[in-house]
Amino acid sequence: MTDILTASTSSPAQAVPVSQERRVVTAIPGPASRAIHERRLAVVPTGVSSVLPVYIARAHGAILVDVDDNQFIDLGAGIGVTTIGHTDEAVVDAAAAQLHNVIHTLFTVTPYEEYVRVAELLAEHTPGSHAKKTVLVNSGAEAVENGVKIARKYTGRRGVAVLDHAYHGRTNLTMAMNFKAMPYAAGFGPLAGDVYHAPSSYPYHDGLSGADAAARTIAYLEKIVGASDLACLVVEPIQGEGGFMVPADGYLPALQEWCTANGIVFIADEIQSGMARTGAYYASEHLGLVPDLVLSAKGIAGGLPLAAVTGRAEIMDAAQPGGLGGTFGGNPVAAAAAVAVFEQIGKNNLLAEARRIEGTLKPALLELQRKYDIIGDVRGIGAMQAIELVQPGTASTTKEPNPGAVRAITDYAAQHGVLVLSAGTYGNVLRFLPSLAITDELIADAVSVLDEAFARL
Ligand SMILES: *Cc1c(COP(=O)(O)O)cnc(C)c1O
Repeated sequence: MTDILTASTSSPAQAVPVSQERRVVTAIPGPASRAIHERRLAVVPTGVSSVLPVYIARAHGAILVDVDDNQFIDLGAGIGVTTIGHTDEAVVDAAAAQLHNVIHTLFTVTPYEEYVRVAELLAEHTPGSHAKKTVLVNSGAEAVENGVKIARKYTGRRGVAVLDHAYHGRTNLTMAMNFKAMPYAAGFGPLAGDVYHAPSSYPYHDGLSGADAAARTIAYLEKIVGASDLACLVVEPIQGEGGFMVPADGYLPALQEWCTANGIVFIADEIQSGMARTGAYYASEHLGLVPDLVLSAKGIAGGLPLAAVTGRAEIMDAAQPGGLGGTFGGNPVAAAAAVAVFEQIGKNNLLAEARRIEGTLKPALLELQRKYDIIGDVRGIGAMQAIELVQPGTASTTKEPNPGAVRAITDYAAQHGVLVLSAGTYGNVLRFLPSLAITDELIADAVSVLDEAFARL
């Protein structure tokens, strides 16, 4: 009898090297991408859209290679996921080794060490030196859902406060927590109740000090729900989809102080801003925050799906046994990759790389702002930078959104081998969140393409 299960002769795929350079050899998208796109239109629903329908065959470092052999400088990193670089060797090796050992058991049936190691690393690297515990889940939205669940159980309260311009995901609860109905919630109701949206700090537009913006947020929440009915306040320390708004100094610490005084769990959604993106493990550190719960996802596992809720042990332990978990949560392969990501951040001093990128990118963006008056604002921390585009002549007056210019710039950039993402409540922000592996040369090359794009507007 032949044992077909042992008949496999496959060996690990040999990676094709990817040169770290921009190269456009076809129209964008090219013929091979167009052919796949035709097939996709027949079988993938329109609700799943793609920013740039070039189909990616390989990626390494800061470069994407499509099926037509075009090479793109990737300034998006899968929306801040491949933070330490595409197909980072240490991540690939750790995941590959884990694939051969064990792929799945379900931690809530028979556990494994990698999950525990990720929890230890998160306890070590999230802000604050208090005792912390972590639950691992599959996605950012699931981390938000679990953070809210835990805060409700701990406080025995119902209300969830969020800020204007926030983005927290696409599940039923999280779509109620987003600022923008379109496209995230429109037509998908009924939405979860007991979610309260409060004004945020958006220095370029509101001009408020941190203290004044916090007073406005607090007064609003006390009026529409009341502190005693709030289980948690969920904030992105630097808002992601909203447009990389860095809040005014002291804004978030004042909110945290109010939460603590009123028994409200302060939850930092660091899904986009965390994991070394800003030159600290978590953006909270720049802003003087020690959140009760911290949410991690995107960059945590080098591209494998993993997310986490990490928080004060006494809060995390509020949930009853069996109340937290999920089939794939903390998958061993993703967990092994996350351990490698933490090791790479430490070993290669990637926090300094994020600061290097700020040092190269921010002055270049400020230079563009001096040349082009539609660039109203340049903002961000570390490798999380953005520019807000306004209508000509309104940069210091009405600051009227200019989403058309954003579309023109992203289109031109794509045609010339640079993938740059938009953001912003009004679609008028260009956001830059390259991998920390991007070189200064690639940044300069990408900025030169943006410069051409602005010049042609
Ligand atoms: C991406 C994102 C989420 C949702 O994460 P998913 O993994 O897409 O569910 C939540 N919050 C923030 C700040 C994000 O950037």
